[in-house]
Amino acid sequence: MPCFVCSTCGTQFAEMHAPPGECPICTDDRQYVGWGGQQWTTPTALARDHAIRIADDDGIRGYDITPGFGIPQRMALVPTGEGNVLWESLSLVTDAALADIRSRGGAAAIAISHPHFYTAMVDWSDALGGIPIFLHAEDRQWVQRTAPQIRFWEGKVHALSNDARLIHCGGHFAGSCALHVDGGVDGKGALFCGDTLQVTMDRRRVSFMHSFPNAIPLPEKDVLTIKERLADYAFDRAYGYSRGRNILGDARMAVDASIAAYLSINH
Ligand SMILES: [Zn+2]
Ligand SMILES: [Zn+2]
Repeated sequence: MPCFVCSTCGTQFAEMHAPPGECPICTDDRQYVGWGGQQWTTPTALARDHAIRIADDDGIRGYDITPGFGIPQRMALVPTGEGNVLWESLSLVTDAALADIRSRGGAAAIAISHPHFYTAMVDWSDALGGIPIFLHAEDRQWVQRTAPQIRFWEGKVHALSNDARLIHCGGHFAGSCALHVDGGVDGKGALFCGDTLQVTMDRRRVSFMHSFPNAIPLPEKDVLTIKERLADYAFDRAYGYSRGRNILGDARMAVDASIAAYLSINH
């Protein structure tokens, strides 16, 4: 039985004989059903005509599906003091990507910012030896394929090592997180944003949305929570959700200015 994959958002579902009637990720107001109606694929079919581009993304090893599929996010292999963390996930797993990860020391854990990027997280974990997948407990309801290696964490911060932690910010999803590392490429700290803060196309600021494709803004109170949760962390770089969409330098200042601008616009 295949684990069907939604062609619009890239979410992989639990094994079943026939695809589900709808994808709850896409019928949610943060996403959308493809204009041609709900479409499904399978891991086997996806592997036939897609590959994973493996390349440096501003100093971090990055992986994304080519040609573009799903949202389309970049997965990153982020070094920490206690092994690499695979940040975010993809709908497709390939031998070439696994070999690349293994050649860099493998991954100790998977961590994902929010349900739009859960995709084939269980396949990635299985292929890497059953490593834990850290998801925030407030997004538990959105998991479409459960597995014993999924660890739901609670609270505001979850340490992955002495120099890397997941920060619960909420907003876009109730459990939305960011990953912060102390050193990073330039030694001045890095924030991996997911959609919790979205690096904008000028790569000089971030923004906040309940829904990006449907342009539904985030309430001011949620942005104030994000501000408070990130207040204690220094970072010079902010890595956005997709390849190249990164702020390289003075990212802390850019995030602070973006929050201030968002709040003043919404007064
Ligand atoms: Zn979907
Ligand atoms: Zn999202």
